[in-house]
Formats: sequence, structure tokens, C-alpha cells
Amino acid sequence: MHNIAEKISAVRERIAQAAKQSGRKVEQIKLVAVSKRQSVAAIQTAYDAGQRVFGENYAQELRDKAAQLPSDIEWHMIGNVQRRNFKHLLPHCHCLQTLDSLELAAEIEKRCSTPLKCLIQINIGKEPSKSGISPENALSFLAALQTYSKVQVSGLMCIPPFHENPEASRPYFQQMRALLSSAKLSELSMGMSHDFDIAIEEGATIVRVGSAIFPARQ
Ligand SMILES: *Cc1c(COP(=O)(O)O)cnc(C)c1O
Repeated sequence: MHNIAEKISAVRERIAQAAKQSGRKVEQIKLVAVSKRQSVAAIQTAYDAGQRVFGENYAQELRDKAAQLPSDIEWHMIGNVQRRNFKHLLPHCHCLQTLDSLELAAEIEKRCSTPLKCLIQINIGKEPSKSGISPENALSFLAALQTYSKVQVSGLMCIPPFHENPEASRPYFQQMRALLSSAKLSELSMGMSHDFDIAIEEGATIVRVGSAIFPARQ
């Protein structure tokens, strides 16, 4: 567990390098430590090393962990959420990064008393195995969300097709940046352990990093 702190430093160093490389300010990039299937003790170790933003993939897991960890943690939901499980995310979830249906928007509208920060998940590689809105439908989906007063859309999120060579992600990241600009939004969540440097070069404001920080998931 002791090297979690070292790994976070190394990731922060990579973020700083990529920011410098692309003439961006490091403060413009948020690191979400992806803690799915990690123990509460491992998350606490990362917290003690100064990390405050964590991402979880399962609603109940987020709820159970949030209850056992410091209340100033900023929790992001980065996994697919079924409508019936949305309730578990309240009140701890700071940002839902995976909004991809009007059914889920309706559930947010019903359950939230204040607006919930959301990112629209885009299926940028149009992969049948992945959830998300197809890039062509992103603007009409965004328009349809206007009627939901509790859905506060601040940006876009994607998981590009996996390829061993991280450079393969770059064209997808570039498409995301263009889409962000046409949607007139500001947050762009993209880049994981193997390709976050490239995501930062292409405009990511949020990177989601798991295996470069935590031990292999059980
Ligand atoms: C697991 C996961 C990550 C982190 O992936 P690593 O390769 O372990 O960094 C990021 N985003 C999402 C949506 C994930 O499910």
C-alpha cells in the first residue's frame, strides 16, 4: 500500500509534463483516481497522500465507500448507471460522468433537490459493446436535456476503443475536442492510465486514472 503515494506523485508528474508540452496550466487538469474494486484502506492511503477526487463504477460501491471515508472527498460516478440504482448515488456523488439517456435524466429530475453536475458520455468509437451517445446525436441529446432543471451538463466524457499503442487514442480525443466546442461546453473527461498524456495534449480537463495508482484490481 505504501507505494500508492509514490504512484500518485508519478502520475502528477506525467500530468505536469503533458500540460507543459501543450502549453496548458496544470491547474486546468483534474485527476480522478479510479478506485473501483479497491479497498477502503487503499483509498484512505491515497487520501492521506493528498488525493481528494475519486471515481467509482458501481453505485452501491460508491455509496458504501463514501460512508466510510472522509466527507471532503469529491466522488465521480464513471460507470454505467441503471435507473433503479441512481438513488444510491445521492447525496455523495459530485459529478455523474456517464449520462447517456433521457430515462436517467428523468430519474435525476425526480430525485435531486439541487442540480447535479453531469457529463454526457459519448461513444466516440461507435462500439456496440460500449454505452454512450453517438457523436452524431450528441447535440440533439444536449438540446433535449434543456428541459431537465436538475441536470447540469458541464461537459463530455469518452472511453475510446482500446489499443495497445496510446497514439491510437489521439484521433478520438481530437474528435471529442471538436464536439465539445460545437456543444459550447467546457469539461472534457478523457484519458486513462495508458493514454492520459495524449488526452491532455488534446484538451482533457479531467483524466481518470486507476491502474497507474492502485494495485491490480481483484
Ligand atoms: C476503470 C476505468 C478507468 C481507469 O482505467 P485504468 O486503465 O485502470 O487507468 C477510467 N475510466 C473508466 C470509465 C473506467 O471504467
